[in-house]
Amino acid sequence: CLPLDIEKQNYVRRNVKDAIFSVVLPTPLTTELKLVSCSEDALINILDMSPSIAETSEFVEFIAGNKLLSSSIPLAHRYGGHQFGYWAMQLGDGRAILLGEYINSAGERWELQLKGSGRTPYSRDADGRAVLRSSVREFLCSEAMYYLGIPTSRAAALIVSRDPVLRDQFYNGYTITERAAVVLRLAQSWFRFGSLEILTRNKEFDSLKKLVDFIITEHYPEIGAEDEDRYVQLFRTVAHKTMDLAVDWMRVGFTHGVLNTDNMSILAVTIDYGPFGFVEAYNSNFIPNTSDREGRYSYSKQLEIAIWNLQKLSEAMFPLLSESQISSVMSIMKYMEMYSKSKYRLAFLAKLGLKQEINFTTDDLLIMQLLQMMEQTEADFTMTFRELGDIPLESLKNVETLRKHGWSLPKLASHRNYVEFIEMYQKRLEQEKGTDDERRKLMSSVNPRYVLRNWMAQSAIEKAEKDDFSEVRFLLEVFKTPYTLNEEAEKRGYADPSPDWASNIRVSCSS
Ligand code: AMP
Ligand code: MG
Ligand code: MG
Repeated sequence: CLPLDIEKQNYVRRNVKDAIFSVVLPTPLTTELKLVSCSEDALINILDMSPSIAETSEFVEFIAGNKLLSSSIPLAHRYGGHQFGYWAMQLGDGRAILLGEYINSAGERWELQLKGSGRTPYSRDADGRAVLRSSVREFLCSEAMYYLGIPTSRAAALIVSRDPVLRDQFYNGYTITERAAVVLRLAQSWFRFGSLEILTRNKEFDSLKKLVDFIITEHYPEIGAEDEDRYVQLFRTVAHKTMDLAVDWMRVGFTHGVLNTDNMSILAVTIDYGPFGFVEAYNSNFIPNTSDREGRYSYSKQLEIAIWNLQKLSEAMFPLLSESQISSVMSIMKYMEMYSKSKYRLAFLAKLGLKQEINFTTDDLLIMQLLQMMEQTEADFTMTFRELGDIPLESLKNVETLRKHGWSLPKLASHRNYVEFIEMYQKRLEQEKGTDDERRKLMSSVNPRYVLRNWMAQSAIEKAEKDDFSEVRFLLEVFKTPYTLNEEAEKRGYADPSPDWASNIRVSCSS
């Protein structure tokens, strides 16, 4: 590591032209730097580092942006995007700085990025910083998603300082001082739909072609770099992967919260953990982000929104396409709704321990009936599926004894159609001729027991604000095996109903 020779940068907001990156140095954090937590898995298996390195002051200073590797040319990426349905023009990395690419011992390329490391030409009127609470949420959730088996950017480490950051409290009009934090994030690429959109909007077609060809060569090598149809193939691949990702979110009740096109990864991994949330008492219109007044990004709208965003990506690619290629892209778009419905059906059948589609109409009905009952009884999304899979089928019918087995299923069982539903479910299971053990095994592999509920994040954040990082670290441990019962996690109530105080927690775009 080299110390930075420029003490303090003060980048001016710019309208950058015909560029994909700007060279920008991180602005160091200075007071009382501390490691909050690190992901051993990311350090070992992505960065080829020993986790003990995270305890060194040199590592913490590196994350704080005080030291750079000699080979690093730090960059901020220029991108645009559609925010809440409208073209927002230039956005870009306003507080994230790419340190460079690392090719690891497995031959994989990973881009290291600091989030919260100071102003860039893309900071607009903001400070380039990130506060501890949102950084804890991003750190924990990106690692949790990885262990849930959902494509995501990773978080290798989180540090905090005493440098003050001012933030609005959206819901009460106050401004408060918070602690600045930085997350070392990793992704194989940080390009977004908005990376292409800005180039097309500004008619920077040479750069557009260069960027898209680069994406194909680096990240989609299975598509021939010289193939005339490569852009259509790229779009087809990204479209399918994006819908697969959105279905994965639905499967675990994850609601991203801000699915603007600048938050949609070109590799179709989950990026930008802000005001996300996991559905608890089932509500198809769950809106985690209090800044999202209209519920554009509610839980159940995610498939539809992913398609809307893909439409914007396709438009950004039009300058690269011939007329016949444009019609190919449009037919791929048309197919996405059906594709995602089928993927969704399969994912939710698996959540019920069912392996294949048998009859679209009755399969959909089975899923819909369950979700409707869950909504009407306010059953917990995570625990209802979990308990359905924990309890033998024979006992599921026995409404009186259900209370012994869980807390969410008894809520569901209070519904007048519950017994009828279980009978329908049993008949459907018989069609697959599997054993009840097989059903339960499949269910426990796709239905997590532990997700990052707001109260869990909040409780860890409150301790971390007082320099007690034990709960952040403990949660990370629990999320390593989200599908497996963990005695210590049970003791702490991580699979229990959220405490009453949790209903006051608000998450917004303030971060
Ligand atoms: P997001 O809603 O998190 O996707 O952010 C939208 C845009 O605002 C992106 O260009 C971010 O880089 C930028 N941004 C968000 N917070 C800050 C901040 N504190 N300082 C500078 N830029 C920011
Ligand atoms: Mg973003
Ligand atoms: Mg964000």
